[in-house]
Amino acid sequence: MKKKFRLKKSIVKRLKIAGVICAVFFAVFLFYRSQINSLKKIGYSEKASVNILFQFKKDYVLSIGENKTLNAAFESNDYEEKYLDQYSKIEYQNQEHLIKNINTLIKKGYSNADISMILAHGSDSDVSEFAERKKVNYLEEFFSLPYAKLKNYDRYVDYSNETGEDDETTVLAVNLDMDKETYKDAKVIKNFSTDMLVNKHRSLEKEFKPEDLVSIDEKYSSDDTQAGSRIAVNAFIKMYKAAKDEGYDLVINSSYRSYEEQEEICNMYRELYGDNYVLNYVAMPGFSEHQTGLAFDIGSRNSNIFAQSKEYEWIQKNAHKYGFIQRFPAKYEAITGFRSEPWHYRYVGKKIATYIYEHNISFEEYYVLFLDS
Ligand SMILES: [Zn+2]
Repeated sequence: MKKKFRLKKSIVKRLKIAGVICAVFFAVFLFYRSQINSLKKIGYSEKASVNILFQFKKDYVLSIGENKTLNAAFESNDYEEKYLDQYSKIEYQNQEHLIKNINTLIKKGYSNADISMILAHGSDSDVSEFAERKKVNYLEEFFSLPYAKLKNYDRYVDYSNETGEDDETTVLAVNLDMDKETYKDAKVIKNFSTDMLVNKHRSLEKEFKPEDLVSIDEKYSSDDTQAGSRIAVNAFIKMYKAAKDEGYDLVINSSYRSYEEQEEICNMYRELYGDNYVLNYVAMPGFSEHQTGLAFDIGSRNSNIFAQSKEYEWIQKNAHKYGFIQRFPAKYEAITGFRSEPWHYRYVGKKIATYIYEHNISFEEYYVLFLDS
C-alpha cells in the first residue's frame, strides 16, 4: 500500500516537471513566433526571418525596415555578414544569383550605386558574366540611360571611340546594331505586328507575308495591283477621306511587295543607276518595309512632285492621327540609313505615330525606348 502511494507521488512529481518544461517551451515558442511575425509584418519572408533571428540581426533589420535586397540576402546561401550594410543600400532586382553577383561586384570594387546600375541593365546571366570581368570604367556614361544594355558594354566603348559620338547616340546606335555592317548578320523578324521594325539590320524571311493581306481599291491607288495589310489599308482609307474632305487628293503608288518583287526592283535600279543608288535608296530583298504590308508610297493626284504638293503639307500635319509616320525624313538619315523619302509612309498605329510626331523622334529611337526587350 505504502509502496504504491510512493510510486504515485513520484509520477505526479515527474508530471509537474514535464508540465513546467512544456510551459517554458511554449512560452519560448510564442516569443519566437512573435519575433518572426514582427519581421514578416515588414515584408520579410519566413525563411529570411528565421535566418535573421539565428544570425542575431533582428534589431539591425528592424532599424532598416522593409528592404527587398536584404530579404534576398537572408534567403540566400551566398549571404556574407560583412556585406550586410551594402545589401541594404543596393536596389533589388528579381534575379536568381542576385546576392552571389552582388558579392562578386563588391569584391571588384564597385560602389553601391554602380552595382545598382549594373543589376538594372541586364538579365541574371548578363550580370553574372559582367561580374566576372575586370572592373570597367565609363559605367555611368552609358548606364545612366535606362535602355543601355550590360551585354553591349564593349560595343559602346568601341563605337564611341571610333566615332566620337556622345553617350546617348552611342547607346542608341549600338542597340540598333548600327556598329555592324548593314545587311549582314541581320536579326530575323518572324512575326507580324503593327509595331514591327524592319530595317537594314532587321530582316524578313523570304516566305514572310503580312497578316490579312487585302487588295486596295483603285479609287485609292494608282493601279489595280496594289495590296496591303488590312489594318493599314483601312487606316489609309480613313486618312484619304479626311484629306478629300479638305480638298486634298492622296494616292497609293506602291504598297505591299513580296520578297521576289523587291529583288526585281533592286536589279532594275542597279542596272539603271548602279550599286550606290541601290544602297541609299532601295532596300535589299527581305529588308524592305513594303514586305510587311504596312508601308505605302503615297503621292498626290494633283502634282508629280509629292514633296512640293499641298497634299504633302497636309499629310505632314495629319498622318499621325491615322497611325502613319513618314518613315525616312532627311533629319533621321543617320539613324535609318535611308536618304529622305517624302513619299514613304508606314503604319504603326495611332499611339506610336502620335508619340513619334509629338516627340520628334525616328521609329528606330521609339523602338529602342519602348519596344526592345
Ligand atoms: Zn517605300
